[in-house]
Amino acid sequence: MCGIVGYVGKQNAVAIILEGLKRLEYRGYDSAGICVQKGRKLNLIKKAGRVDNLSKEVAKHRMVGTTGIGHTRWATHGGVTDANAHPHVSSDGKFALIHNGVIENYAQMKAFLLKKGYKFKSETDTEVLCNLIAYHYAKENSRTKGQSRFVECVRKTLRHVEGTYGIAVLCVDFPSEIVGARKASPLILGVGEDEYILASDASALVSRTQNVVYLKDGEIAHLTPKNFFISTLDQADVSPVVDKINWSVADAELGDYAHFMEKEIFEQPAALENAMRGRFSADGSTAQFGGLNITPGEFRDLERFMFCACGTAWHACLVTEHLIERFARIPVEVDYASEFRYRNSPLDPRTLFFVMSQSGETIDTLAALREAKRKGYRVMAVNNVVGSSIAREADGGIYQHVGPEVGVASTKAFTSQLLIGAMIALYVARMRDMSFSDGVQYVEALKAAPALTRRALAQAPKIKAIAKRYAKYQDMLFLGRLSLFPLALEGALKLKEISYIHAEGYPAAEMKHGPIALVSESCPSVFFAPKSEIFNKIVSSMQEIKARKGPIIAITTEGTELPEGLADETIFIPECHEAVLPIVAAIPVQLLSYYIAVERGCDVDKPRNLAKSVTVE
Ligand code: GLU
Repeated sequence: MCGIVGYVGKQNAVAIILEGLKRLEYRGYDSAGICVQKGRKLNLIKKAGRVDNLSKEVAKHRMVGTTGIGHTRWATHGGVTDANAHPHVSSDGKFALIHNGVIENYAQMKAFLLKKGYKFKSETDTEVLCNLIAYHYAKENSRTKGQSRFVECVRKTLRHVEGTYGIAVLCVDFPSEIVGARKASPLILGVGEDEYILASDASALVSRTQNVVYLKDGEIAHLTPKNFFISTLDQADVSPVVDKINWSVADAELGDYAHFMEKEIFEQPAALENAMRGRFSADGSTAQFGGLNITPGEFRDLERFMFCACGTAWHACLVTEHLIERFARIPVEVDYASEFRYRNSPLDPRTLFFVMSQSGETIDTLAALREAKRKGYRVMAVNNVVGSSIAREADGGIYQHVGPEVGVASTKAFTSQLLIGAMIALYVARMRDMSFSDGVQYVEALKAAPALTRRALAQAPKIKAIAKRYAKYQDMLFLGRLSLFPLALEGALKLKEISYIHAEGYPAAEMKHGPIALVSESCPSVFFAPKSEIFNKIVSSMQEIKARKGPIIAITTEGTELPEGLADETIFIPECHEAVLPIVAAIPVQLLSYYIAVERGCDVDKPRNLAKSVTVE
């Protein structure tokens, strides 16, 4: 959450920072601001609202300079106002600062600073951090020898801070320099030609350079026009490792699509191809993963798996649980990362831990990973962003390789997590009871997933027409069974997050234990009713809804006949292997939610109150 950009170089920083903010806007979009330094002067503009709003304001002023910082906010402390927008400037006017995260001990520090005469203009925790830097700077005035006073006062301040931060700071006494630092909030450094860019993620800098340094927790970066230096909070120098970003700016552009969510829905066949490439054994009977750092023997001896995630990724874990238990016959537990980190649940010693997070920065998932490691467990990560905190801290992992996901509502990241979950189930199953020929069949089924997904996507015009008829409702139920129960949860989540329709997901048979009280002509139900051994049971649940006049949208497999007049709308998906079914079934609910949100005039890529990559607790 929240996007940070800082630029030091020879170009005009304004255009580069505004472009970066535009690309980072999916991380937070309630307000935006920019501060550019020219000599000893800090030129600040910040506004509640979107980056476009800020750009219009900037265009009214003459703002130039080759060093600057910019921010797009997702408010945690203080309302959405111009004053609370970042950057914040210290009350002595010496420092400007942008921040992603939460300073937990801000109240004590604010009380201390108020006593010392510092003034505050905002309600944010961030402004406290900015003034605390100014305080240490003033105090340390003559004591720092040999080091930059600028870096040392930031370092000193951060030692007093509890909470999370990714920051970039300007100081009037050090024109053309930026100091950045991180703890639990992402920050990367782009190393360009005669320029350096600090950013929350690669999308803000990939148009200028593909060479990046992934800063680690507790590291401080000092950018000057000619060089950059990295050190730790404990003053140790760090030799930077420069990595290459493996995607280009075109991957994060909208092209001919109206929204990133639409683009990413239609990218799914290609995304699935990328996620499975090179991950099947030469004999075609099992999966293989390069980065697990665990031997097949160790894997075979495991007694249990534990999966932790948040939001959509948690739904992917639930499907994975179903597939591992079904095919590999190993017990699996799935927990919300935010619950696990504080729950202190008893764990079997022979448990392998998995965390799933598209961004690899989700703070609760990162905390769950750390807690599992503290308890001595080995932790694997399923994650999309190369070099993310979760990828770095895990003992091993599997990258999703689906390119940048910009839409706040996850789509291609979700189906690739489902695919990887299905491959993990295959990998373990083949070490246990699954035969060679069943393995070959399973692999062939997974290889068919992109083509089957393409066929499901061909239903888009029909789903769009259905969406027009159903966009008027205020409540909706999503019902499914077995591996499609998590899809019911995901369908309900997708709909509510982008269209603001109240929606709930339930196991279809569970509906009669409560949610059926909601059913009426004004509460439609979306049923997953594919051909399966419990098809008749699902039909009975549908009858119960119909008897109470609830409209029904059925998602069923091609060739399956539902009783005449039972469903008001029927969407067909291709018949497929059990491991692929959840992937293919995701398509119609993604499209339905997307088209309903568009029909209701919602801002699909930037739903209210949400942001991508949840880096605050
Ligand atoms: N806690 C800060 C604020 O509320 C930063 C939030 C963010 O990460 O955007 O302004």
